[in-house]
Amino acid sequence: MASNVTFIGAGNMAGAIMAGMVQSGYPAASITATATRESTLQPLHEKLGINTSTDNLAAIAVADVVVLSVKPQIMRQVCESLRDTIQGSRPLIISIAAGLSAESLEHWLGGDLPVIRCMPNTPSLVGAGACGLFANANVNGTQRELATQLMESVGIAAWVEEESLIDAVTAVSGSAPAYFFLMFEAMEEAGVKLGLDAETARRLAMQTALGAATMALHSDKSPADLKRNVMSPGGTTERAVAHLEQAGLRDTLDGAMQACANRAREMS
Ligand code: NAD
Repeated sequence: MASNVTFIGAGNMAGAIMAGMVQSGYPAASITATATRESTLQPLHEKLGINTSTDNLAAIAVADVVVLSVKPQIMRQVCESLRDTIQGSRPLIISIAAGLSAESLEHWLGGDLPVIRCMPNTPSLVGAGACGLFANANVNGTQRELATQLMESVGIAAWVEEESLIDAVTAVSGSAPAYFFLMFEAMEEAGVKLGLDAETARRLAMQTALGAATMALHSDKSPADLKRNVMSPGGTTERAVAHLEQAGLRDTLDGAMQACANRAREMS
């Protein structure tokens, strides 16, 4: 029988994960979501057929897994309100909150609990997410498998064995959709300068990103080899790539990702 999974907080990210779970065949009857307002829950119940409740304690009473998916600023208060019930039933805890350590979460929930930290990203909304997972010492193999299964329903999942590496995952995938959105903006602007209309430039740039990522994912060649394959000597691509290298794209990305990981460290 499927484990009962309760999401505390039914916002964008939790909604994406629940939709992915249901689409990949996880029984809706085994999923419960909570929120402060009925109006948030009603559409989820209608669309996904999951159980919903505005009563957090009733919703976690029969949960095997509790996914903490409220905003980080209110997490402590929410955890402390769940503490007595959680200590009674001792479910697996999965937190998707940015910047909150497994130790803090475990402490706020009363201690000695299996806690998994998960760093998802927004493409989970379209089943193309990439998430990093870290488990504390109380998590067993079955619980790891369950967390992998839940997150793979909305994309790919990668485990890290040191909690500090969640900050690296934040830089590589958690915050990274925005890097590509910035590239799309810049490519659209440059395409317009070259004479294309904005809509055409945008569609071509996005489809090319999708194509490049799909090709790279399906190829056994490295990105460097794939890049070389499209660069004929003296050709157009070679000229563009040389410009990107000379203009310092690698250093720029390195700096951006260091800044992202540093900010994640400051927040935790
Ligand atoms: P959101 O504001 O869309 O969702 C928060 C939900 O919590 C809302 O449905 C709200 O009704 C509910 N809520 C508030 N107080 C509650 C309470 N006391 N009990 C139960 N539910 C309550 O936020 P989001 O963007 O989905 O983010 C949720 C978490 O996901 C955050 O901790 C964030 O750090 C993490 N996260 C988000 C992203 C992202 O890109 N959006 C990426 C990685 C991690």
